[in-house]
Order: sequence, then structure tokens, then C-alpha cells
Amino acid sequence: MEAQKELLERIGDFVIEHGLGVNSANLAAICAALSGADAELAQAFTARELSGEPIDQRWLDTLARLDPGTNGRIAELEQLMDKLEYSLMRFAQTTKMAQDETSDHRGALGAQIEAIADVAAPGGMVAELDRVVELSRAVLERIERVEQAMERSQDEARRLRASLATARMEADVDHLTRLPNRRAFERRLVSAASEARSKSEPLCIGFCDVDRFKQINDRYGHDAGDRVLCTIADTLSEHASDQCFVARHGGEEFVVLFYGLDKQAALAKLDSIRRAQAARRLRDRFTGQPFGQITFSAGIAEVTEDSDTRSALARADAALYQAKAAGRNRVVFI
Ligand code: GH3
Ligand code: MG
Ligand code: MG
Repeated sequence: MEAQKELLERIGDFVIEHGLGVNSANLAAICAALSGADAELAQAFTARELSGEPIDQRWLDTLARLDPGTNGRIAELEQLMDKLEYSLMRFAQTTKMAQDETSDHRGALGAQIEAIADVAAPGGMVAELDRVVELSRAVLERIERVEQAMERSQDEARRLRASLATARMEADVDHLTRLPNRRAFERRLVSAASEARSKSEPLCIGFCDVDRFKQINDRYGHDAGDRVLCTIADTLSEHASDQCFVARHGGEEFVVLFYGLDKQAALAKLDSIRRAQAARRLRDRFTGQPFGQITFSAGIAEVTEDSDTRSALARADAALYQAKAAGRNRVVFI
């Protein structure tokens, strides 16, 4: 009881001290950090306090974007999909085996019935034999029906496995732009970071955010805004080389991973993409309405300078913030 009261008081003090909003997302994060329920979050809070940097809404939002809880839930879901796939595979194997066996039996039984029917001599046991033949034919029919049902089940299992494979692929794709989504990006980031470390090669993250995008929505409508996002996604993927991985992080934010490039080289690369985008004069392909110039700002951080990918992403976000503050339509590294 006392401990709970104390925790509540600490949460309240924390919210007031840092001037944070009282909402469920903030309270959940602060509670998880202060109670120690989320060790990684607790560590991030302590490190931030020690560094003397502000614990403000922006920083909390950045943390929330990297919410490990989401990743945990995704991992659970993936385990479930693995299990489902395995069960379907086993089911297909079992029905195939059962089908082979019943089809052998059916063949043997069929031959036997015909042999009996042939030798059914006149007189004597005719009535009894007729009855046996009749019953056997009924059994045979039932076996055939079971076989057909098993075949249908196998088809169904095949279809389910195909949908599962598609669902897995779709789960990694952003529906609007067809770029890899944040989930795909985060997985890629973790594997790319460990590979870069093991090879002692640099790896950079570029965090891009469309400038004054809200105005585009306000002026031309949300659907036109969506088309602008697709165009920017196209610019990014067209200009990115094999050494880059481009994804939509969410909303009007995109991320690029630069393999083997240090932050100077990554900046040069991303800045050339930024210039290409700034040089375009966009027009709505449905209404013909000119959008004019649409730019983005970006922040770059070298992942390999950090001990974990979460803080690298937070640094790229901080660099993006600097790019915005310095007037937008620019790329900054930290
Ligand atoms: P800044 O230069 O500071 O980034 O300004 P901004 O207007 O781009 O930033 P702000 O965060 O204020 O607004 C982002 C807007 O992006 C708000 C939201 O409605 C819009 N948005 C987010 N996701 C989508 C989307 O999928 N489609 C459309 N059309 N709009 C989106
Ligand atoms: Mg934004
Ligand atoms: Mg923006």
C-alpha cells in the first residue's frame, strides 16, 4: 500500500516537475520507468536526467516511437504465425499420409468386393453374400467420401499457408506508399547495426520529415496529402542506391539506412536527394492543381557511435529537430 502511494506520488511529481501532459501514454511510460517495470525505459530516463537534457514531450514521443512493447507484441505474433504455419504443414502431411493409406485400402477392398460378387454361386449362401457385398459397397462409398473431404482439407491448408505467407509480406509493407514500414525498418536496423559492428563498418540513419505538411493537407485535402507522400516516397526510393534502405516510419516521416557510409557521406547522399525533391514542382495528378515546392528536412546519426539503436534513432531525431529549427529544407548530422 505504502509503496503504491509512494509510486503514485513520484509519478505526479515527475509530471509536474517536467511540465508534461497528463495522458495515458505519458503516465504509462512514466509508471513503467519509475517503477522499474521496463528496465530499458528506466535506464533511458536516468541517462536523460544525468545528461541534463530536458525531459519534455518531444523526447517522450521519440521514446514512444521506439516502444519496445510494440516489438515484443510483434515478436509474440510472429511466434504465433510460426506455430500456425508449422501446424498447417503437419496437417497437410498427416492428411496426405491418411489419404495414401485409405486409397490403398479402397483399392484392395474394391477388388475384393468384385471377386466376391463374381463367385457368388447360385443357391446356398447367396442372400448372406449379397448382404456382405452390399455392406462392403456402402463402406467403400464412405471411404471415398472421406477421401474427398481430406482432399478438400488439403486444398484449404494450402490456401491458408499461401495467405499466411502473403500476410507476412504485407505486415512489412506500408499500405499507402508500398515502402517497407516501420516494423520492417526496426528489424532491419537491428540486424544492420549488429552486422556493421561485427564488420567494423559505419552505418547511418537518416530521419526525414516533410516540411509544413499539415498545410498541404489543410489546403488541398487529406487525399491530395496522401498523393504527395507517395511522390516523396518515390523520390526517396528512386535516388537511394543499393547501399540504402528506405522505409516509411509513419505519418510524413521517412527513414533511410545508409550501409557502409559514415555521417559525412550519408549527409552528402541524403542532401542530394533533398535537393532533387526541392527542385521538383509537384502537381496533383488527379485535379491538376499545382502544389509547388515541397521539401523535407532530415537528421542523420551514425548508429555505430551509439551502444544501442534506440539512442541512435533518438539522436537522428534530435538532428532533425535542429534542421527544422534552422529553417527546414536541410540535412543536419549530429
Ligand atoms: P514541420 O515542418 O514542423 O514538420 O511541420 P508539419 O506540418 O509537417 O508537422 P506537423 O507534425 O504539425 O504535421 C504533420 C501532419 O501530417 C499532421 C497529420 O495530419 C499529417 N499526416 C500524418 N500522416 C498522414 C497521412 O498518412 N496522410 C496525410 N494526408 N496526412 C498525414
Ligand atoms: Mg512529423
Ligand atoms: Mg513535418
